Amino acid sequence: MDAAYDLIVVGGGATGTATAYWASRAGARVLLLERHQLNTEASGRNAGSLHGQIQHEPYRELGEDWARAWLPALRFLADSLELWDGLSAELGVDLEVRRKGGLLVADAPEQLDWIERKVALENEAGVPSRVLGGRELRALAPWATDRLIGAELCPIEGKANPLLAGPTFARRAAELGAQVRTGTAVEALEPGAGEHLVRFTGGTARAPRVVVAAGDAMPWFGEQLGVHLPITSEAIQANVTERVAPLVEHLVYYAGGRLTFKQSASGTLLIGGGWPARRDAQGAWVLDPDSLRANLSTAMSLFPQLADVRLVRTWVGIGNGTPDHRPVLGEAPGHPGVFLGLYPYMGFTASPLMGRTLAALALGDDPGRDLTPFAPGRFSPALAS
Ligand SMILES: Cc1cc2nc3c(=O)[nH]c(=O)nc-3n(C[C@H](O)[C@H](O)[C@H](O)COP(=O)(O)OP(=O)(O)OC[C@H]3O[C@@H](n4cnc5c(N)ncnc54)[C@H](O)[C@@H]3O)c2cc1C
Repeated sequence: MDAAYDLIVVGGGATGTATAYWASRAGARVLLLERHQLNTEASGRNAGSLHGQIQHEPYRELGEDWARAWLPALRFLADSLELWDGLSAELGVDLEVRRKGGLLVADAPEQLDWIERKVALENEAGVPSRVLGGRELRALAPWATDRLIGAELCPIEGKANPLLAGPTFARRAAELGAQVRTGTAVEALEPGAGEHLVRFTGGTARAPRVVVAAGDAMPWFGEQLGVHLPITSEAIQANVTERVAPLVEHLVYYAGGRLTFKQSASGTLLIGGGWPARRDAQGAWVLDPDSLRANLSTAMSLFPQLADVRLVRTWVGIGNGTPDHRPVLGEAPGHPGVFLGLYPYMGFTASPLMGRTLAALALGDDPGRDLTPFAPGRFSPALAS
């Protein structure tokens, strides 16, 4: 196989499949290449939270200046959340998108102090979050015990089904004419003047535009292009319980610890929050029982009724980060027509807009926002554009 396309997309996660969809929908001839099956990495292993607030752990660790510099990335998430609303209708599949809001609950006055400052910053970015007192919280969330003295309510947050989103984007892209090849690892990306060559298992393909949305393999692609991408990869765990009667409507976080907690459309409870996995003697990532215990006991401190609920599955996935928590989104410096896309930590939430933006860039359309804070060259000052 040596064929020519308008656009080659590398990576069959939520970002790559969304890119393939939006580009195909605009009439481009697209080739999508995935080394495994679609949605097998982070995009198929995440907890399905739709985030729209500054995450409290980096806020506490990195401080106000970091958070202010991160606001363009928050705005990006908020705009992606708006895209999620219409996505089930757009793709013709119920992606189980529910946006009832997120609650960051607090049990100490000190937590409410910094939540207030965080909310003020979010409001600056146009996110309509606000602080609730204990009584208001309990009126909204009957499960909240008296121990909780207040919360942040971020009304734009919610949840969706990660097992459906990526594969549906890919299926619709294929119906629009995209070639979707799984089990096809890209072995080399050779950028050229006007046309780029992609070598992969079983063949090569050429296109004037290439989008790389390869998750934890992004640094390797960066090396091929001479662009330093200090993207981190950390294995984290998530858990799901058996189905239970309706318990929580919101996406719940806890200001005193690491937790995300929500109920899926089917009634299962998804318990996560970024607890680390560990490596076994052979170096493979495996479940860390200490993380599991800590994650579940944090959840049970808010929801004692979990004591009677069975856990049915715990899994490990690789989450990707960047040092400044901002996405990598834009053209590779020195290689016109090659675009790089990775939204760290919360890339499931960002994926519809990441895909639409990458497709717009690849097709020469206006991405509709200033992408300077996300420039892929920002980690190599000599290349920064
Ligand atoms: C346990 C866990 C929970 C999470 N929870 C949430 C959450 O609740 N909400 C949220 O917003 N985000 C969450 N995330 C983060 C989110 O899942 C990721 O940010 C997002 O899925 C990244 O999507 P992606 O398409 O960029 O990358 P990926 O899903 O990693 O896809 C990249 C794809 O590229 C392919 N690839 C790599 N190299 C090659 C190559 N050489 N040739 C061909 N293909 C290649 C890979 O096989 C992979 O399929 C979580 C992550 C984890 C691990």
